[in-house]
Amino acid sequence: MARIAVIGAGMGAMAAAARLAVAGHRVTVYERTETYGGALRRFERDGFAFDTGPGLLPLPAVWRDLFVKTGREPLEECVGLVQVDPSSRHLFADGTEVAVPNASRAGVVTALDEALGRGAGQRWGDFLVRARDAWDRTRRPLLEEPLWPDWRVLGEREPYPALPHKRLLRTRRAGTLAEIGAWELRDARLAALLESHALACGLDPRRTPASAAVLPYMEHAFGTWYVRGGLRELAAAVHERCRARGVEFRFGAEVTGITEKDGRAAGVELADGTAAEADHVVAGVAPGVLDRLLGGAPVRGDGEVPPQRGTASRLTVLLALRGARPAGTAHRTVVHTPDREAELESLFGAAPRPAARPTVTVLRPDDPRLVPDAEHEAVTLTAVVPARPGAGGREHAEELITAAERAVPGLRDRLLWHEVRTPADVEAATGAADGAVPPPALAAAGGRLLHPSNGTRLGGLFTVGGWSHPGGGLPHAGMSGALVAGLIVEGPGFRGSR
Ligand SMILES: Cc1cc2nc3c(=O)[nH]c(=O)nc-3n(C[C@H](O)[C@H](O)[C@H](O)COP(=O)(O)OP(=O)(O)OC[C@H]3O[C@@H](n4cnc5c(N)ncnc54)[C@H](O)[C@@H]3O)c2cc1C
Repeated sequence: MARIAVIGAGMGAMAAAARLAVAGHRVTVYERTETYGGALRRFERDGFAFDTGPGLLPLPAVWRDLFVKTGREPLEECVGLVQVDPSSRHLFADGTEVAVPNASRAGVVTALDEALGRGAGQRWGDFLVRARDAWDRTRRPLLEEPLWPDWRVLGEREPYPALPHKRLLRTRRAGTLAEIGAWELRDARLAALLESHALACGLDPRRTPASAAVLPYMEHAFGTWYVRGGLRELAAAVHERCRARGVEFRFGAEVTGITEKDGRAAGVELADGTAAEADHVVAGVAPGVLDRLLGGAPVRGDGEVPPQRGTASRLTVLLALRGARPAGTAHRTVVHTPDREAELESLFGAAPRPAARPTVTVLRPDDPRLVPDAEHEAVTLTAVVPARPGAGGREHAEELITAAERAVPGLRDRLLWHEVRTPADVEAATGAADGAVPPPALAAAGGRLLHPSNGTRLGGLFTVGGWSHPGGGLPHAGMSGALVAGLIVEGPGFRGSR
């Protein structure tokens, strides 16, 4: 039995902790705040409740697997998992709208044909077939296996089989999401639908490689899911599973240093001046935090994937509305910006700042646990903002509310109060500088969008969660927990559990 110190009680770290405890290790989680879940927080007031982190769950199989491997009760017995249908409703810049059915290719093709004109559905359906090829080629290395030592191969190869595009005398193939939109989808609204998947991860679709086609594919193939009571319930269930398997949690316990002995990680130092010895240390924190814990010593060797520092955060506005949620309301509506170029330039240009007219995701869960009674509705608005000091402050909340009026008729008349969550709040919850939120790992782009491996330069020190392979987002962070547990239990030869 080894002693394992886990830094942070984020979702990736807790996934690793539960698996390591089941493997017979003595696991202690040190969390600087007073609660578990990291980004998965909840805000409650006057009988209303809101997720302040992610509000939907892609690929629940990752968490189902955790619950299968760590105990008797399957995930479905611990939380209420429901599929969201339609998967999302899109309100485009030109006024057209479409509700995209959940996980049904025929349904999606028909809906897009009806909303955007004949042929649009077929073009999207054909795109999804190519996106599936990209998924099949990257699923193992970018989700299920430890990062390949020859990771450069992943950065060099574009797994998306782009169509040849003849232009003047040249034949080219789409290398970015924006080019897939322009050359293969050939409809500004389909392009906006595609690009919204990258933007939701804080990525610039003009620079995001075509391999990001896996993002809409994952949603299409595996569905969009909601956890009753809010996503925070998933964090509570994982925390409970950890405790049931003997994981010890120490809250209000900020780790201030990782100790080394004979070239190996040997334990952690805490802000209260105490120290704890450990045979392995698992750090589920952002790269800047990890640097500090090691006193600036390099965490990664030469030739390894460097950490991403994170350029995008989220601005979230929580709306308490009087009046019932109308029957048939879509759970998620994406209100697209009326000016794509301006939005992308604001967010990703030379002087990053919040967009004046942002793309806004509106979540309207059908969940009595989030409202005081059936005569009220809890609505959450989210927009991507730069992760920069002072950027994305509460003064931009009005822009989100204005955009959301398109999705929620009579919004301002119904508004009882609103609460704003800024990047500073994200930083408070996760510790990541300026509230940066990590995107999932993606292939191609020279490896720029990969995350560092879970093993480090220092023997016995592993990294887990959204800032490590395979990157940010709930499924990916959950997989990082499985990978770290595998690497500790089976050793460096571990090549993935599926
Ligand atoms: C507003 C918002 C919206 C998001 N939306 C989505 C979405 O739609 N879809 C999606 O898939 N993902 C989304 N994400 C990202 C997703 O929530 C994370 O990638 C996922 O939860 C993984 O988190 P993690 O394991 O990296 O831990 P984190 O959530 O980053 O938590 C890190 C933990 O470590 C603790 N910690 C930090 N420093 C120390 C220290 N020195 N000592 C002890 N503890 C420390 C922190 O307090 C925190 O609890 C969103 C995130 C945010 C903030």
